Amino acid sequence: MEKVVYLRLFGELNQFFEDKNKRIREIKYKDRQTIKDILEGIGVPHTEVYFLLKNNQPINFNYLVKNGDSISAYPIFKTINIESSQKTLRKKFPYQPKFIADAHLGKLVSYLRILGFDTLYYNDYGDKFLADKSAKENRILLTKDHGLLMRKKVKYGYYIRNDNPQKQLSEVIHRYDLKEYINKSSRCPKCNHLLESIRKEKIIDRLEPKTKKYYNEFYICTNCDQIYWKGSHFKKIEELINDIEDEFNNGL
Ligand SMILES: [Zn+2]
Repeated sequence: MEKVVYLRLFGELNQFFEDKNKRIREIKYKDRQTIKDILEGIGVPHTEVYFLLKNNQPINFNYLVKNGDSISAYPIFKTINIESSQKTLRKKFPYQPKFIADAHLGKLVSYLRILGFDTLYYNDYGDKFLADKSAKENRILLTKDHGLLMRKKVKYGYYIRNDNPQKQLSEVIHRYDLKEYINKSSRCPKCNHLLESIRKEKIIDRLEPKTKKYYNEFYICTNCDQIYWKGSHFKKIEELINDIEDEFNNGL
């Protein structure tokens, strides 16, 4: 028998659905289905849903829908604090988050690494590999492919909205409250390995004349041997963080 559930998507969740003009969708379904099945059946990754209400009562993703249910699905809100509710579907990360990024997010990946976030990046691995790796290591999967977020294995994931890498970084920092974990300079943007400080004398032969003249504080990646200094590289990142802090202060 064909059954029906009435689904109302709030805010950003509507972007995953083709018909953006309808406020309440009438979803037809057969057999036993959870609300997670229903949502993903219409293209909304469960990782983007923060709160679910059925007839004004909170429910979780395993809820088996019943014929005629009215269900509302909410994304993370930037301005309304529902964190205090015990029923939200996503708890704040209890430790410094780790990431794994899908292809084409290389610039975002290097920003996250520079800020000290453990971030894996594979340009040429399939969806299954990324989903498995993120589940196995409890890494947040960052992607611009919402199909990837709908894989069963994926527990933590985030759909990147912007194309501009700086805006992407701002999105991720806001979404996961990363400000308190920012640790400038700790990972190599090329390979994700931790950076160590190194005395100038030790690497002086490898420096360009101008770098030798103007800089005194250096870091080295003990994995790929790349040298970094507090020059343009750090300045750019500091500016980026200041911009993001301004956004926080302005309540964005
Ligand atoms: Zn390295």
